[in-house]
Amino acid sequence: MDSTPAHTIRFEHVSKIFDGRVRALDDVTVGFEPRRVTVLLGLSGSGKSTLLRHINGLHEATSGTISTLGVEVSTAGGPALRRLRRDVAMIFQHFNLVGSMSVLENVCTGRLGALRGPRLGLFMYPKSIRIEAMEQLARVGLADKAFQRADTLSGGQQQRVAIARALIQHPKILLADEPVASLDPVSSAGVIDLLGRIAREDDLTVVCSLHQVEVALGFSDRIVGLRAGAVVFDRETATISSADALSIYDSVAREVAEASTGSAQAASQPAALAR
Ligand code: ADP
Ligand code: MG
Repeated sequence: MDSTPAHTIRFEHVSKIFDGRVRALDDVTVGFEPRRVTVLLGLSGSGKSTLLRHINGLHEATSGTISTLGVEVSTAGGPALRRLRRDVAMIFQHFNLVGSMSVLENVCTGRLGALRGPRLGLFMYPKSIRIEAMEQLARVGLADKAFQRADTLSGGQQQRVAIARALIQHPKILLADEPVASLDPVSSAGVIDLLGRIAREDDLTVVCSLHQVEVALGFSDRIVGLRAGAVVFDRETATISSADALSIYDSVAREVAEASTGSAQAASQPAALAR
């Protein structure tokens, strides 16, 4: 068998220019594979969110081509794009849960797209969906919180609920845009670790943007560094030595860290890249 991993997402020479002047992506050629977490690592403004939003056609490339799950994103029509978006779930820095609703009902809303008409209240969901929502909550370690209001959970727990809500959609790709930016280091580690386990269990392609070098090094399978919209490195995490880690820091972070905090302090704080 071919040992090259099959890409579920493929960018070929993709550039994105906003408003005729902001080059947010600069000739990006990169692929993403299933069953692993690939981290997009870079400072604020380096193009991470823009890249993620091209994967399911939320942004249209200025030039170049993107293929996602075999669909040419830029030329796909409405129906093909809608189908594609059902296969691509997203989670965000701010978990976007409904705080006054129970944890279980928040997970059920991940299936709203599959239901006809508005649904109000947990028992408006078919039993099969409620059962699956409980199963997904168990997978993220929160079955005991199912009937609590979502806003009573910690940030890390709320992000795990958002992951369960994404999983009930049965996605093939999970895009995570700064999913741990609001979390403490221990909760961050737990969330990224969970993404890796789910990627392997569900054959998911996970692409996760981060600005913390240490979180990326600790929990990703692969790191793609972005700087000013361009890919500046692309490495399997397991092959990165501590000397390499410093060069990663150099290539994505030093410029802004030095400008904002002075180089001595920046050098002592390589984990927290300025956002
Ligand atoms: P990151 O997610 O790494 O912080 P972004 O992808 O949000 O970076 O932004 C990359 C660049 O593109 C930035 O210069 C940003 O200001 C610009 N940008 C992003 N979205 C838009 C938009 N909708 N219109 C104009 N400029 C944008
Ligand atoms: Mg962003």
